[in-house]
Amino acid sequence: MAKYMSMEHLRYVLFDVMEGEQLFKFERFQDHDKDSMNIFFDSIKDFSDQELYPCFREMDEQPAHYDNGKIVVHPALEKILPQTGELGLVAAPFDYEDGGLQMPLTFHTAAMFIAEAANNNVPGYPGLTGGAANLIATFGSKVLKEQYVPNMLTQEWGGTMCLTEPQAGSSLSDITTTATPSENGSYKIKGQKIFISGGDHEYSSNIIHLVLARIDGAPAGTKGISLFVVPKKRINGDTLENNDVLTAGDFQKMGQRGYCTTHLVFGENDDCQGWLLGEANFGLKYMFQMMNGARIAVGRSGVAISTAAYYASLQYANERPQGRRLTNTGQKDLSQGQTLIINHPDVRRMLFLQKAVAEGSLALMLQTALYHDLHMVSEGAEKEKYYFLEELLTPILKTYPAEMGQTSVSNGLQILGGYGFCSEFVLQQYHRDIRIMSLYEGTTGIQSLDLLGRKVTMKGGKAMMLIGQEMGATINEANTYDELKPYAKKLSEQMHLTTKVVGFLTGFAQKGEFERFLSDATLFMDFFGTIVLGWQWLKLATAAKKALVTGDKTQTEEFFESQIHTMKFFFKYEIPKTAGLAQSMMDTEVLTLKEEKELIL
Ligand SMILES: Cc1cc2nc3c(=O)[nH]c(=O)nc-3n(C[C@H](O)[C@H](O)[C@H](O)COP(=O)(O)OP(=O)(O)OC[C@H]3O[C@@H](n4cnc5c(N)ncnc54)[C@H](O)[C@@H]3O)c2cc1C
Repeated sequence: MAKYMSMEHLRYVLFDVMEGEQLFKFERFQDHDKDSMNIFFDSIKDFSDQELYPCFREMDEQPAHYDNGKIVVHPALEKILPQTGELGLVAAPFDYEDGGLQMPLTFHTAAMFIAEAANNNVPGYPGLTGGAANLIATFGSKVLKEQYVPNMLTQEWGGTMCLTEPQAGSSLSDITTTATPSENGSYKIKGQKIFISGGDHEYSSNIIHLVLARIDGAPAGTKGISLFVVPKKRINGDTLENNDVLTAGDFQKMGQRGYCTTHLVFGENDDCQGWLLGEANFGLKYMFQMMNGARIAVGRSGVAISTAAYYASLQYANERPQGRRLTNTGQKDLSQGQTLIINHPDVRRMLFLQKAVAEGSLALMLQTALYHDLHMVSEGAEKEKYYFLEELLTPILKTYPAEMGQTSVSNGLQILGGYGFCSEFVLQQYHRDIRIMSLYEGTTGIQSLDLLGRKVTMKGGKAMMLIGQEMGATINEANTYDELKPYAKKLSEQMHLTTKVVGFLTGFAQKGEFERFLSDATLFMDFFGTIVLGWQWLKLATAAKKALVTGDKTQTEEFFESQIHTMKFFFKYEIPKTAGLAQSMMDTEVLTLKEEKELIL
């Protein structure tokens, strides 16, 4: 079987770089240790090798589809979905009292990454079930929790998040699905939701939808949105009965074709019951808890796909002979046989780009999850610190592995030459699959508005100050090694440039020119995302250098040297991009505001 991820690299980042074991000293996580986590990872890797990877291509070739009122998904899911429950992929992060294992998100995310690199069509099912169950466990009444959470944690029942409507995609304030109070304490739900992932299939005996809707008479906009638990089949004593949730279709997609994306109609026959979660009109706030988790999960998918694509093109480059290396005189030595393409500098550049994006993004993913866990278990000022850091990094994690992941997978496809374009090879599937990551869970445009408009400015720039301190700590450590000093200096210069750009852009906000302030938010995302990745690479390289110097090596010498080399690659080929982006952002000429010249159709 082809390699699709590296357990050695994952363990290195988790334990040596992020020092994930620090979490086990907190009471919440005290029952776990490095050995138990490694056993968990091994079980997920075996499952991924034996069940997920073998049907990855088939799920694309036999996509989920709508047939006569039913959604048909790949038959392998009949066995796979219950296994995701048995292995703990849904329940692991939940509290003991809810039936969970109180596993840190950092380790759960690492496990999901393994499964996702093997087959990115599958982890969305347990992922959304876990997210929906978490909302019920956090905001639901005792009755709702008892009725739904246990069956969801085993993945016997699936879960979804139902936000999007035809006229309300990015703009959730325009949701029109209604909820009318009934005498029995439930609400009658009426409306349509589109693009609902995992929304219907035959391998879950029930599907629990978490639906955003407006209670009759609620205020307009986001302040009038409530959250409801709407099962496909409602509980009536010991039996389940239909709850008037109709599946109208399955969207046919360019990628992630094994993962169904449904169109659902609620209350066509006026008989769809939903149960209010938490307080009325706080629905969007509650849903954001699930959406933040889902954004970390989408970032994870981007990391997983770009990782799998990297190993696929690396293997190809090691096997494909083509052309000859140039001699010192610039001539091709035709007396030699063909060389492997991995020996051509341009192919090596593309492979290093893939490695830099995939492994740097993996570090960012685990860093963000670590801040989440530390926020959860810390107190006072520490708690606030980790909250800000997680909030700042979440839109970047959602976006960088999606956007740069596409570039990286595209380079991977290029390495295969014409074969990269052919269905017989897997790169084209990764290329199609990763495209969704910058669209769902808030497009790149929306994430960028969140980063610059909300996260950078919140509490007078507190999150930016804190991330500056974190980067400063990495710079100080890197500065203890001569080889790393030039890169520490470069990162420090990038931090100064960031201060300049933020000062320039926020100047518009202070003058009340908000559209101008945010007009280049996506450029800012590209700019700051690249710097954050530079920070992660310096961190990876510093840990590698430390291991080489102290001789305290968990991996081979080549492994550590390769980490340092890839960091240098990132600083040479990626970091310089920020200068051009800064120049565009600080240009006084504005070309994209509505008042400028019109676009002609
Ligand atoms: C495969 C798939 C699975 C999905 N799964 C789910 C799911 O499980 N549950 C769910 O509820 N939804 C789901 N979605 C919906 C998804 O979250 C939306 O498609 C997404 O939020 C964008 O909404 P839209 O498609 O209506 O695009 P629009 O909102 O119409 O956006 C179109 C373009 O305009 C830009 N734009 C919009 N508003 C602004 C603005 N204010 N400023 C700047 N630019 C803006 C966007 O960035 C985008 O480029 C899924 C979608 C797909 C394709």
